[in-house]
Amino acid sequence: MDAPYGRIERLEPGIARLLAHNPSAFTYCGTQSYLVGEREVAVIDPGPDLPEHLDALEAAIGGRRLAAIVCTHTHRDHSPAAAPLAARTGAPIIGCAALALETVGPRADAAFDGDYAPDRVLGDRDELEIDGKPLVAVATPGHTSNHLCFAYDGALLTGDHVMGWSTTVVVPPDGDMAQYMASLDKLRTRDDRVYYPAHGPAVTNPQQYVRHLVGHRMQREKQIQGLVAQQPRPIPDIVANAYPELDPRLVVAAGGSVLAHLLDLERRGLVERDGETWTAA
Ligand SMILES: [Zn+2]
Repeated sequence: MDAPYGRIERLEPGIARLLAHNPSAFTYCGTQSYLVGEREVAVIDPGPDLPEHLDALEAAIGGRRLAAIVCTHTHRDHSPAAAPLAARTGAPIIGCAALALETVGPRADAAFDGDYAPDRVLGDRDELEIDGKPLVAVATPGHTSNHLCFAYDGALLTGDHVMGWSTTVVVPPDGDMAQYMASLDKLRTRDDRVYYPAHGPAVTNPQQYVRHLVGHRMQREKQIQGLVAQQPRPIPDIVANAYPELDPRLVVAAGGSVLAHLLDLERRGLVERDGETWTAA
């Protein structure tokens, strides 16, 4: 993929981006780590544990003090570089909570970084001072239960809560559609100037973009409700009808998103489950 791997991109004063070389059907070109601050910096989402990415992060930090290594959540494309970067720099790992997951199915499990161990966990509205400005945690559960966005100087680093290239994957049991929607609503109450997601380009029209995402999910929910109202269906059948031209690598994730919608509809008393089959309530 033709993308700026290993090259620091200055987006605006005090915010720079560095793309890791981990492209995939889930990560687009790869994970974008961000550096915030000028005289001292924090790294947001250090990314996967790839030696060349760690080298590039260290080079980007240069001689400046690294005040914190911050993770939005603990998917494997976001947090595994935190510990090796801490070992190289002595900086603390501060941010989202670790997730203790029970056995939750092969894919969901494989996607989580079970080794993540923060020195300090931030809750909603907790802040760190980076280069004289606050870096503020915004709790945004849904994509994962421990997901945080971070506000800095009018920008919002959105991790995987809002992405610039695709809709966010929400896979139960840790992913939760009702929480995800509530976390989108939460962004609508804010007036961030720009979003910098971990995957895909910056979002320069945040309010409009979030409205579009909410509309898309509501449309998807309606579609799923319509399909199970026609006839009782298992999830693979719903996926085949709702996502007719889906990349085969994304079928499992789409099934997860459909399940997330169904569980939300079930909680609201709108659908029922009989074994593997879902019907209108
Ligand atoms: Zn993620």
